[in-house]
Amino acid sequence: MICLTLSQQTLEEDAELVRSNRAYIDMAELRVDYLGEEEQKKASLFPSMVDIPVILTLRRKEDGGLCTLTERHRRNILLDALDGDFAYVDIEEDVKRAEVEAKARKRGVRIIRSFHDFNGIPEDIFSRIYKLAERGDVAKAAVTPHSVADLLTLFRISDELKDVDKIIIGMGEWGIPSRILYRRCGSMLTFASSGDAIAPGQITAKELKTLYRADKVSGKTAIYGIIGNPVYHSSSPQIHNPGFQAINYDAIYLPFLVDNIRSFFALAEYLKMRGFSVTIPFKAQVLMFLGRISREVKQIGSCNTVVRVPGMWKGFNTDYYGFLSPILRDIESGRIKTALVIGAGGASKAIVWALRNRGVKVTILNRTLSRAADIAALNLCEFDTLENARKYEGTVDLVVQTTSVGLYPDFDLNPIEGFRFTGREIVYDIIYKPKMTKLLSEAAAAGCTLHYGEEMLLEQGKLQFEMFTGYHYPRGIGE
Ligand code: NAP
Repeated sequence: MICLTLSQQTLEEDAELVRSNRAYIDMAELRVDYLGEEEQKKASLFPSMVDIPVILTLRRKEDGGLCTLTERHRRNILLDALDGDFAYVDIEEDVKRAEVEAKARKRGVRIIRSFHDFNGIPEDIFSRIYKLAERGDVAKAAVTPHSVADLLTLFRISDELKDVDKIIIGMGEWGIPSRILYRRCGSMLTFASSGDAIAPGQITAKELKTLYRADKVSGKTAIYGIIGNPVYHSSSPQIHNPGFQAINYDAIYLPFLVDNIRSFFALAEYLKMRGFSVTIPFKAQVLMFLGRISREVKQIGSCNTVVRVPGMWKGFNTDYYGFLSPILRDIESGRIKTALVIGAGGASKAIVWALRNRGVKVTILNRTLSRAADIAALNLCEFDTLENARKYEGTVDLVVQTTSVGLYPDFDLNPIEGFRFTGREIVYDIIYKPKMTKLLSEAAAAGCTLHYGEEMLLEQGKLQFEMFTGYHYPRGIGE
C-alpha cells in the first residue's frame, strides 16, 4: 500500500490532498501534529471526509513531529480523535497509554507500534521489531541507514521476520531504495509525500505509483538499478521503467546511492538483481567484480552496464554507442572526418575510442595534459591543453564537449570560453543537465549543427535496455 502523509494545517486541505492524489494512493496518514489547534479537536471527523483507510498519528517533536504538548494533553487529543473511524493509530514504542490502546482495540482500530532512530540503525533492530509486534500490533521501525551495508540490513529484516506485520522505513538519502522496494523489505506500506517531503528521503506518491509501480513489486519482480554517488539526479529510471511497462515486463529500475562497491555487490546478490547501470565514480572500480567484460570495456577500461549472466556479472559499455548513434550518419557520409574532443575523463575515453574506431582524426584537449596524453597514446591521436583551444578554430568538423564544466548548476561556464565557431562545425555537448549549455548556445549563435547530451543518454539507455531485457526499446517513449 502507498500511504500519503498529510501535513496540512486544516482537515479540508488534507482531504483535498487525498482527492488530488487519489489515483496513486491506498491509504493516508493524518499527521495531527501539523494541524492547527482548533482543527486538532475535530480530527475524529477526518476518516468520514475521505474514501480510504486513515492512520491517526500525533507525532512528538523528539520523533520527528511537531507536537510539543504534555503527554496528558496529547493523550486526550488522541482519545477524542479515536471517536472517528480510523483504520490505524500510531503509538510510539516507549509510550504506555493504556487508555488510548484500550479505546483503539475496542473500536477495532489497529495499533502501529513505532520507533524512530534519526542517527542510525539500532543493533537490536530485529528483536525490537519482533517485540513491538508481540500483541498482534503492526511494528514500525523508521531508522537511518548511512551506507549500502546498512541498507542491506533493512532488506534482511524481511527474511528474518517473515511472519511479522511491519513497516520498515530507511530515512534519508541512503534509505530511498527501502521506500521504493518496500515490499522486498516485508513492509505493509510505504509513506509518500504529495510534493514537499516531510520526512527525509520521502518520494512522491505519483512517482511511487506511476514511475516505479512500487505497489506491484513482488518476489518475482526483476530488480535493476543505477549505482553512483551522487545518483539521485539520474534520468535513467525515467528511461527504463516506462520501457519495462510498455513490454509488460515485471521489473523495476531504481537509483542506489553507493559508498562501497563491494557492499553494493553483496546487496545486488541478496536482491538477486538482474543488472544495473554504473555512473560516476564507479565506472572503473566496478571492473574487478566482473567475471566477464565486453571488448569495448576491455579497450576503454570503463563499464557503464552490468548484467547478470549465469554464475557471474558481465560488464558492457553502452556510452560509446550512445554517443556515436546521433552522428553515425555524418561520419559514414564523410561529413565528419576530424574532431576536437574537450576533456579526458571516463566519458572521453569511450568517445575517443568510438571516433577512432570509425576512422575520425581526433585531437584531445584537457586541463590536465597527462590525462589527454594517456588517451591519445592508446588511440593514436593528438592532444593539447585547454588553453590552446583557439589554435584549433576552424580546423575540425566536430567539436565534442565531455568535461563536467557547464553542468547544472554552473550554467554560465564554458570550458573553451572565447572559442570562435565558424558555423560549419557539428557541436556535441554530452552534458544533459542543462540541455542547452553555454557552449551549445554559443555554437547555435554561430549557426552550428547541435547535438545534445540527452540524445546520448537516451541512446545508451536504449542499448542497456536491450541488454537487460533482450527486447528492443519500445518506440514512442522518451523521444
Ligand atoms: P570524469 O571522468 O570525472 O572527467 C571529468 C573531465 O572534466 C576531465 O577531463 C576533467 O579534467 C574535466 N574537468 C572537470 N572540471 C574541470 C574544470 N573546472 N576545468 C576544466 N576541466 C575540468 O567525468 P566523466 O565520467 O567523463 O563525465 C563528464 C561529463 O559527461 C559529466 O558531466 C557527465 O554527466 C557527462 N556524461 C554524459 C553522458 C550522457 O549519456 N550524456 C554519459 C557519460 C557522462 P581534468 O582531467 O583536468 O581533471
